[in-house]
Amino acid sequence: MVFLNGKFIEKDKASISVMDRGFLFGDGVYEVIPVYNGKIFRLHQHLKRLQNSLDSVKINNPYNDKKWGEILNKLTKLHGNNPQSLYLQITRGVDVERKHSFNDLNPTVYIQSSSLKPKTKQELISGYNAISSEDIRWNRCDIKSTSLLANIMYSQKAKENNVEEVILHQNQQITEGATSNVFMLKNKTLFTHPIDNHILSGITRDLVIESASSCNISIKEVAFSIKDMLSADELWISSSTREIMPIVKVDNNLINNGNVGNTWECVYDNYQKLKNA
Ligand code: PLP
Repeated sequence: MVFLNGKFIEKDKASISVMDRGFLFGDGVYEVIPVYNGKIFRLHQHLKRLQNSLDSVKINNPYNDKKWGEILNKLTKLHGNNPQSLYLQITRGVDVERKHSFNDLNPTVYIQSSSLKPKTKQELISGYNAISSEDIRWNRCDIKSTSLLANIMYSQKAKENNVEEVILHQNQQITEGATSNVFMLKNKTLFTHPIDNHILSGITRDLVIESASSCNISIKEVAFSIKDMLSADELWISSSTREIMPIVKVDNNLINNGNVGNTWECVYDNYQKLKNA
């Protein structure tokens, strides 16, 4: 079952107009929200970021938080008790002609639930590989927009290179991953790019910072360079569906001699506690 414009229906019965601006222009925003033990994880924070995205592109929020909670909880229940990933998308709606500028339209709301299978600690402990690339995206990466062509091309490049992620940099500074935020541990200080228009403010990013607070390290929301990254003690990526993944190789450079570090383990364990609280 999926949710489309006020109705819960079978996925194969769900359809939208070819005049939907989401289809024609990628004119919409989205959220991905994990569900554990039947509970939507950090719903309030996701709805807040959704509101920021909507405000930034002048789409009216069709529902208040209470209504969002009701819809998302109902869809979650329809999909049982296993971990889920809720994908929700709001487009500007259906117009009468294809024109870049827009009229006041009824937003299209689509939500689906997929099963979520984060990697186990056993799997994560061997570490993952990444490649790096110049960040060519626009200067409003803080908006969780469905216009994802650049990110799609990066993810395809990751797939073709058989690596987990593409780590992006602008002017030699690491911004984020194609679909994740990036953290570097150096001399017991955890660095990650500050919240601004160059990155998406990841909900998991906040959870990593929260989880790291009791791991005997200091935390600096300060950008770091490619050079810093390559000599890092530890390197991680974070996202709602991948949680916190240790990266042990970027391009042809090993991080920490190719080993996952102890601090990752501490932060990962704390994250699991928050998730299952
Ligand atoms: N940055 C980008 C570009 C993303 O696409 C994502 C998630 O898909 C993130 C960061 C991490 O965000 P979150 O932790 O809210 O999933």
